[in-house]
Amino acid sequence: MSQPTKQHLIDPEICIRCYTCEMTCSIGAIEHDDTNVVVNPEICNFCMDCIPVCPTGSIDEWRVVRRSYSLDDQYGFSELPEQEDMTETGEDADTDMEAFDDAIAALLAEAHKGTGGKAKAPASAAKPTINLYNPGKPAGATVQGNYRLTDVDSDADVRHVILNFGSLPMPVLEGQSIGIIPPGTDDDGKPHLPRLYSISSPRDGERPNFNNLSLTVKREEKGVCSNYVCDLKKGDSVQVTGPFGATFLLPEDPRARLLLICTGTGSAPFRAFTMRRQRTLGANQGGMTMFFGARSPGNLPYFGPLKKVPQTLLHTHMVFSRIPGAPKEYVQDRMMVEQEAVADLLADPNTHIYICGLRGMEEGVEKSFTNIAADIGIEWQNLRDTMRGEGRYHVETY
Ligand code: NAP
Repeated sequence: MSQPTKQHLIDPEICIRCYTCEMTCSIGAIEHDDTNVVVNPEICNFCMDCIPVCPTGSIDEWRVVRRSYSLDDQYGFSELPEQEDMTETGEDADTDMEAFDDAIAALLAEAHKGTGGKAKAPASAAKPTINLYNPGKPAGATVQGNYRLTDVDSDADVRHVILNFGSLPMPVLEGQSIGIIPPGTDDDGKPHLPRLYSISSPRDGERPNFNNLSLTVKREEKGVCSNYVCDLKKGDSVQVTGPFGATFLLPEDPRARLLLICTGTGSAPFRAFTMRRQRTLGANQGGMTMFFGARSPGNLPYFGPLKKVPQTLLHTHMVFSRIPGAPKEYVQDRMMVEQEAVADLLADPNTHIYICGLRGMEEGVEKSFTNIAADIGIEWQNLRDTMRGEGRYHVETY
């Protein structure tokens, strides 16, 4: 019987072909053709760098195999193969099946270990709809409004853009994203691929019970889609794909305590979480704590409205890195200042952690969690892996 090994695969049914994983892989193990994005089993070293950058979670698929699926096999997938039954003895009847089963279990566990295990939706989250619209069959939306969120004299142009879907179904949940297809073609003359944006409004609409949603978009210099979206005018038509995202979701359980950590436009999904809880629970309970980093108040999206949210609903810590005359402060620094409150959350099995925004903050936030957990006798990596396994730890950084 050939030795079983683990294999990294990509779910072709969920992958949106954004190629972020391929661009992230530093050893060239990921490639694509016109149909699928695939992982070369001869090259992949399970470094896990591609796992957190995938916007849909389609990257986080693993099988234990006796014979690896070849690139050709994977290009032919229209759906992922089931995990094959490894308990069959096959040609070698003398194999110690118990030892063999243990080896398989260990390989499967290891496959999900990496960055702390396979991302999971909170147990109580509602079931998300995904991939309802794609580039071949996009949804048409109409722009209802486009408002600047940052000060006119600030260096960041961040927009609140509202899209109306009219009678077209667009079922979304807090934490999901949609894709926007910029008009025109890329350098190769092909239509642009959709760019993903987190939805910043709750499931029942930017305006309750209207079929609309909002996005929080920062204009990036030379950004094809961000400039297109930031320049949209009321009444313009927009091509939309999605919704996407099946794990970075709000728990339905109203008693779940949420620790939200974000920078800049990474606050988008947390606006959706806050509005959902405000609409369903009212202002006097919420159980949410947020650490929100920006360069200055004029640069912090929703600064004015956020100051009006009752602290009982959302306890906010707004942290600024570039206030003239004041020391630079990042979210991870403020977490240390508030370490008692953070420790209290870490020790509570009802706590869910969400991190969204700049990729660079992850390292600092991890360090703060490590120090704060150690002070209360908890090993952070173990806790983080447990929380991830229970669908209570979520990271979306770019
Ligand atoms: P930004 O304005 O460039 O930065 C926000 C704040 O983060 C600034 O105060 C910045 O400080 C600080 N910062 C920089 N490096 C940091 C570090 N290592 N640790 C902690 N804080 C750090 O942010 P932005 O341009 O809005 O970007 C937000 C990011 O979120 C983008 O990359 C966007 O793609 C991503 N995003 C993700 C999602 C999602 O995951 N669903 C949704 C929306 C946006 P200094 O500049 O002073 O150093």
